[in-house]
Amino acid sequence: MNLEAVREAVAHVEDPEVPVTLVDLGVVRDVGLADDGDVRVVLRPTRLACPARDEMARRVREAVRSVEPDAGVAVEWELSTWRGDEVSGRGTEVLLQIGYSDPGAAETACPYCGSTKVRREGAFGGAVCKVPFSCRACGSTYDALRGSRSLLAGAPHV
Ligand SMILES: [Zn+2]
Repeated sequence: MNLEAVREAVAHVEDPEVPVTLVDLGVVRDVGLADDGDVRVVLRPTRLACPARDEMARRVREAVRSVEPDAGVAVEWELSTWRGDEVSGRGTEVLLQIGYSDPGAAETACPYCGSTKVRREGAFGGAVCKVPFSCRACGSTYDALRGSRSLLAGAPHV
């Protein structure tokens, strides 16, 4: 078992919704070996009921088997919910480029012009993991990932 190769393969798995790796999103918490020799991957769900969960697990299994075809793979989900401030700097950069607000920012701001004069447009965006916003400064619409720091309890603009 080449665990380094397995980790490397898992590190390239992208999220089903956004072109950011699960590692950069802070979803992959651990890649290791279980007592029975299976590869054990611990993931943190971006949202507990997120329908992309099955697809994430499928992609991770596929990545492990691309380097270790005979390996058993156990995908485990943490109970704690994903937080936007765990997204890496690289992941945040990609999200901003494709029109998401910074998931780690305390206050949601327009990814196009940086204004915080924004309005939440409803509960759900194009997917249940997204919350739609519009910017009053430049007129753009954008999504915030549910779990973004600015959307958590106690944050402004909730
Ligand atoms: Zn704007």
